[in-house]
Amino acid sequence: MAEIKKVLIANRGEIALRIHRACHEMGIKTVAAHSTADADAMHVRLADEAVCIGPPSATESYLNVANIISAAEISRADAIHPGYGFLSENARFAEIVEAHGIIWIGPKPEHIRTMGDKIEAKLTAAKLGLPLVPGSDGPIADVAEAKKIASEIGYPVLIKAASGGGGRGMKVVPSEDQLETLMGQAGSEAAAAFGDATVYMEKYLGNPRHIEFQIFGDGKGNAIHLGERDCSLQRRHQKVLEEAPSPIISPEERDRMGGIVARAMADMGYRGAGTIEFLWEDGEFYFIEMNTRLQVEHPITEAITGLDLVREQIRIAEGHGLTLRQDDVIFRGHAIECRINAEDPRTFAPSPGTIKQYHAPGGMNVRVDSGLYAGYRIPPYYNSMIAKLIVYGTTRNGALRRLRRALEEFVVDGVKTTIPLHQALLDEPDFQTGNYTIKWLEEWLAREIENDA
Ligand code: ADP
Repeated sequence: MAEIKKVLIANRGEIALRIHRACHEMGIKTVAAHSTADADAMHVRLADEAVCIGPPSATESYLNVANIISAAEISRADAIHPGYGFLSENARFAEIVEAHGIIWIGPKPEHIRTMGDKIEAKLTAAKLGLPLVPGSDGPIADVAEAKKIASEIGYPVLIKAASGGGGRGMKVVPSEDQLETLMGQAGSEAAAAFGDATVYMEKYLGNPRHIEFQIFGDGKGNAIHLGERDCSLQRRHQKVLEEAPSPIISPEERDRMGGIVARAMADMGYRGAGTIEFLWEDGEFYFIEMNTRLQVEHPITEAITGLDLVREQIRIAEGHGLTLRQDDVIFRGHAIECRINAEDPRTFAPSPGTIKQYHAPGGMNVRVDSGLYAGYRIPPYYNSMIAKLIVYGTTRNGALRRLRRALEEFVVDGVKTTIPLHQALLDEPDFQTGNYTIKWLEEWLAREIENDA
């Protein structure tokens, strides 16, 4: 069993601060590895040590493996936490970290690799007994093969990039006459974004929900699930608001599906935190992918289970077993997370700039994960999420009321934010009743724009 005394945080923004907080609560020192653009960031100020790893461009800093490893060696950190995004799902980086005798706070590199290739991931999921979306068994070689598979599963179909992420390289094909063109586009988009033109095909589900299960494994054949999160409110395949539990999953269904997922992870010997993403339609789950890292929306799971997921990740990396057995996991109440972006709430154009005034909501069962403060300059180089607001209530209605109150209190002056978008959402009967799918938000936004015109 290893004891971690100092963690290098290879990330930025709210998640870097989140990791710092867990470390300090555990008596672990932190090193903030940051770009020049983030020298003033809150987590850099709070960390025990800070090492600059390069200029603003992420490829030269947060993705700069040599500089990050050097920073860990110089600061004598004994572990690296990658957060989400950047190098968190880079198997080669995980191997390099371990080869330097540094503890990798993450899954085994081979599992990151398998799940990072979406085709491999689907084959693995099928072997482990998870239900899949009907589609090609592997990559599609040419248009002729694509036509054959599509006619078997029926149009519309979805062409997806094997190395895809963030919804890029995905094309919906409504009918055979458009297959060749759209398949070509998906391939070249994928090649440009991921350096890999490999594509595969899935049945396009018309109106599903996005439901994902949080799991933890100890790497030694034990695994548990921490229930599901409903992330159906999306814009351009990006999550906007998440809730746990899902308004449409019964406790029996949670136990059943969660049990299947946890058994699959135990069989795999999975280590650390992971998320198994499904689409859900008409009572059926369809596996789409697995994320081998901590998720942005992890706090809603923390709220309903009372477990600190970053602490759990660190303990597993140290070689401790899981803190809880499945029977000890008790789901209580309801949690909702709003992702607050520095963007125009109507056009979604990024709005970087200097924060003039800042006041975060508080009170019972309100949590804000954010590195913002008055006078902070939001750098234009990274993604636009500047805060996460998480509320908890004993019931879903209670959580909705608390969310309304907390959003009213939230003051972020100097840049445009998506706070008004979340407030408008709260007035929608479909959202109030939990009656929405992955299509709902974009259709609603389109209607709002029409009403404005
Ligand atoms: P990425 O890794 O690019 O985020 P995912 O496979 O996780 O790709 O899919 C992202 C989103 O795309 C899903 O949350 C869902 O909204 C949509 N999607 C993916 N697969 C399908 C499908 N077969 N049918 C309909 N929508 C899909």
